[in-house]
This record gives sequence, structure tokens and C-alpha cells, in this order.
Amino acid sequence: MPESDQSTKVQPESARPQVLIIDDAPEIHRLVAMRLRTEGLDFVSAYDGTEGMRQATSDESHPSLILLDLDMPGMHGLSVLQALKADPKTIDIPVIVVSGQQLPKEKVKAFEFGAVDYITKPFEMTELRVRVRQALKMRQLIQMLAQRAQIDGMTGLWNRSFFNQRWSEEFARATRYSHPLSLAMADVDHFKSVNDTYGHAAGDAVLQGVAKVLMRECRQHDLVCRYGGEEFVIVMPETAPGDAAGVCDRIREALASEVWQRHPERRITASIGVAGSNGATNMNAQQWVETADANLYAAKRGGRNRVQWSDLSAQATRPVQAAA
Ligand code: GH3
Ligand code: MG
Ligand code: MG
Repeated sequence: MPESDQSTKVQPESARPQVLIIDDAPEIHRLVAMRLRTEGLDFVSAYDGTEGMRQATSDESHPSLILLDLDMPGMHGLSVLQALKADPKTIDIPVIVVSGQQLPKEKVKAFEFGAVDYITKPFEMTELRVRVRQALKMRQLIQMLAQRAQIDGMTGLWNRSFFNQRWSEEFARATRYSHPLSLAMADVDHFKSVNDTYGHAAGDAVLQGVAKVLMRECRQHDLVCRYGGEEFVIVMPETAPGDAAGVCDRIREALASEVWQRHPERRITASIGVAGSNGATNMNAQQWVETADANLYAAKRGGRNRVQWSDLSAQATRPVQAAA
């Protein structure tokens, strides 16, 4: 995990895992809640399938696990399971079927529909406990792996695929609510010559050092990503373009004044392109990235070790540019 508050993407889940019980028998709710009391779980109850679906998809509850009965009046458990696995909001929530149905046919169906486990009623509480623990542990592992897949191994920053995902989300949010948003693209200057002069390992150390400077100089809610090679990208929510340019200039200065253990005689600089808006903009998410990139190359052409920015706000009559 990157060090600063890069945790914003983690599902908004309460500290205690929440278990949603969908079962028409009230005694099951009581029994499970009572006997699993010591597991540190929160329980949410639904007494039929429709209510269960509503609870599972509501913005207030974020179940980490669902215990699902099959034989219920109204919506059958298998239909609930199918609906849960068809909805992107609930597809990743593990479901343990808890049913009086002993028939292998039903069990096979439940697994085919995506259940992670099947417990037959009446059940031993100790058995339910270990199976619940197991399902929650597995979910945690899967989430950890998914998060790891979004982190760049060399620098510990978010990777490009995570950037793509978050950028479209931030763009949509800022556009919808007309909030400020800025994007910065940074590229290390003459990096090839660092590799050529001091070796690839020294080049790698520079990339790791640049990542550290970026993390140190950025604010809590900025999202710092490695875009690829020696290019980095910073998403700055709630930040007007002029302010973003100011932050980037601070980054630029901090980087330029860094002394490198492997080559104290050689400083490292970067050029940065910024594109931001105070609210509404006529650009789409892709054009926004392209503008930041064009500014980056303008900064390179302008002599490197500088920041070039533009204001994409719909009301701005022309792009405002400033070189630092
Ligand atoms: P400019 O100032 O115009 O950006 O010049 P530059 O030399 O930085 O840019 P160029 O694109 O010519 O070279 C980038 C180099 O970055 C080439 C590539 O081998 C090196 N590179 C890309 N990824 C890595 C990496 O993970 N580690 C190391 N050591 N080098 C890398
Ligand atoms: Mg470069
Ligand atoms: Mg480059």
C-alpha cells in the first residue's frame, strides 16, 4: 500500500464485518447473532428475498458476508443468489447457503450460482462459526490481492490501470457537481542519460526517489500514480488549476534540490504539465489527459525543469499558461 491516504478506493465498510442474514425463520437470526457474538461481527436481518436484496444493495449497509436460506416465501433463495451474482454491487460478497435442503441437486445448483459454501440445517454452531470465519478470511485475501494488482511494484504508487479507473470516476464526479479538479503529468528529465551514465539500478533508485518526493509533497487526497516508465500522474480532487500548478512547482523544486546517494554530483529534475478546471468544462476525460500531456511536452520544449498549466474551465476564455 502506498504510504499516504491512498486508501480512498477501499470499499466503505464498517470496521466490524457485517453479516447479512436472509432467512424467513426469526429463530435463525436470533441463534446466529447470539452464538457468533464473540466473532466481532455486526448482523443485519432480512426476512425474505426482496428485503434481502434491498439490504445488500443499499448504500447504508455493506455486508462482508451473506447467510442465505433457500426455502422462503416469495423470492426463492436461489433467485436471490442469482440476483446477487448479477449485480456488480453485490457480486463480490461471499454467500453461504444455509438450508434445510439436503438434496445434492440443490447443493450443486447453489455452487453453480456462485455460493461459496453450503450448510445444511440443523447445523452445529461450531461448524457455522468456522465456515463463516473461513469465508471472511478468503474475502479479505481476495481484496488484498486485488489491491496488490493495482500497485506498481517498483515505486509502491498506484499503477496506470488504477489511475484509469479513478480518473474517470473523479472526472465524472467533478463534472456532475461542478467541482474543481486538476491533473498533473510529470516526466523525469533526461532520464535515459541517468541510466546510461550510472546504470539501470541507479535509474531504478531515481524512480523510487521521485515517488517518495511525490508522496511527501502531495496532499492527503491527491492520488499519485506511476503512469509508466519515468512518467507519473497526480489526480488532485477539489483543486483549481492555479493551485495545482503551485503544488507542482513545489514538487519540482523539492525534486531539484534532492541529493542522490549514488550520484551526488547529478541532480534530477522533472517537467510537469497540469490541466485543471474550477468546475464545468467542455472537455472529456481523455482530452483532459491529452491536455496535461501536451503541457508536459510544452514544458520539455520550454527548457525542462518547469511547470506548464492550463485552465480548462468552461468560462475561461483562453488557456492560461505559466511557466515556473
Ligand atoms: P526527456 O527529458 O525528454 O524526458 O528525456 P528522457 O531521457 O527522460 O526520455 P526518454 O523517453 O528518451 O527515455 C526514458 C528512459 O526511461 C528510457 C527507458 O529505458 C527508461 N526507463 C523506463 N522505465 C524504466 C525503469 O523502470 N527503470 C529504469 N532504470 N529505466 C527505465
Ligand atoms: Mg523523461
Ligand atoms: Mg518519458
